Amino acid sequence: MGRLMNHRRARPFDGRAAGPQHGAGPVLYWMHREHRARHNWGLIHALELALTRKAPLAVVYCLADSFLDAARRQYDFLLGGLREVAADLEGMNIPFLLRTGDPPTEVARLAREVDAACVVTDFDSLKPKREWMRQAADGLDRPLVEVDSRNICPCWVVSEKREHAARTIRPKIHRLLDEFLEPFPADLPPPPAPWPWDVPAIDWRAAVRGLAIDETIPPLDWAAPGTRAGLGRLGAFIQHRLGGYEDSNDPNAGVVSGLSPWLHFGHISAQEAALAVSRSGKKHETVQSFLEQLVVRRELSDNFCLHAEYDSPACFPDWARQTLADHTGDERDYLYSKDEFERAATHDPLWNAAQTQMVETGYMHGYMRMYWAKKVLEWTRTPEEAMAALIRLNDRYEFDGRDANGYTGIAWSIGGVHDHGWKERQVFGKVRYMNFNGAKRKFDVQAYVKRWTEGKG
Ligand code: FAD
Repeated sequence: MGRLMNHRRARPFDGRAAGPQHGAGPVLYWMHREHRARHNWGLIHALELALTRKAPLAVVYCLADSFLDAARRQYDFLLGGLREVAADLEGMNIPFLLRTGDPPTEVARLAREVDAACVVTDFDSLKPKREWMRQAADGLDRPLVEVDSRNICPCWVVSEKREHAARTIRPKIHRLLDEFLEPFPADLPPPPAPWPWDVPAIDWRAAVRGLAIDETIPPLDWAAPGTRAGLGRLGAFIQHRLGGYEDSNDPNAGVVSGLSPWLHFGHISAQEAALAVSRSGKKHETVQSFLEQLVVRRELSDNFCLHAEYDSPACFPDWARQTLADHTGDERDYLYSKDEFERAATHDPLWNAAQTQMVETGYMHGYMRMYWAKKVLEWTRTPEEAMAALIRLNDRYEFDGRDANGYTGIAWSIGGVHDHGWKERQVFGKVRYMNFNGAKRKFDVQAYVKRWTEGKG
């Protein structure tokens, strides 16, 4: 059998020695970030290990009863995607095992029950996920291998340290694209041995009964979950909107991809999206400006979250921490509470419109996310307070919240992360400033405000 993938995409978790593979047992793939059966290097790696060892293979997913501030909206999206994964895997003769409870405990338990040879899992840069993996590795007494299927170029191959800015990581990524931006294998062989244990039918209703999540944030119809829906959206974007992507800073232009929910939940692969966009035949500059976001900025976010205390102002560069400290005593023209932010009850119609777009649709345009975050810095007493309020709102309402991109976007907006100093001013110090008049010069602010707040309040 030829190799199915580049093995630099896989490594022993946290650099722990892989140790001897455990007996002749099956291979388990623990899915927790890349929720798809296609274009998934983690699954491909697990299959390859099973083929080499002539061992059975199963995919396990453990549904935690809560995760950060995810609510009904995001859990529904997640579960819709998982149903599709289960059906797709069935077609590939790979069992899908759904467990509930504490993921590291349950995965380690299953691995012991079936005497798995090793567990393959998704790389993730976020702290709670790395903690899950650490605990699972401790309870496993067999190798845990992480595979980076979120980034095109594996996070650890690109850089082993925190990168300062897009300009420092860009050449490193570009140098590796020849090696890693490759097509996925067209057809995957089935596992070499049948799964000899019971595969219980999944009771999806029972699985959601034990969730401890906020039920007041409802699911939304506009975003159908799953790989098929995501790939359909990618196709429509390439055909109808990619050509206008140069106007992507205009929230009214409707030219951005809107793919972040599917990318966040791993329903589609960024690598597949990058390949499709590269093949589109659209203007070189347009394709490059989209790939700058999808590849460079997105991969920079994972690098940042892996190496920084991303949810605290401790992650801001020294110059930004200093300048913000110099301005903590500055008088604020407005101060709002968490509750006022959440209710979109500020004096600024543009901010309120952005907040409303997020609450009502689970999505906010990228340009407005920057404005939205910077204003919260301006209207709270401290960067700590601003950061906590922003992370909570972002994680609670956005489909794509709880993502490395979100923590990095917030740290960029209010803490100068990946940016440099600008002209000093009140409250912001040297952190880059944005204001209403600047937005007015860029796009039709009234049209955006009208669209999201007309007839409300
Ligand atoms: P497109 O412009 O079509 O871009 C395609 C994809 O490229 C995106 O889906 C995303 O995966 C990636 N991308 C685009 N811009 C960026 C960026 N600046 N940094 C990293 N990756 C990028 N993104 C999230 O996925 N989740 C979040 O919770 C999130 N919160 C943010 C909060 C703030 C304050 C800021 C400033 C940015 C945030 N972003 C977040 C990054 C970015 O704004 C969104 O990814 C983008 O707007 C999503 O819309 P789209 O898919 O239509 O983007």
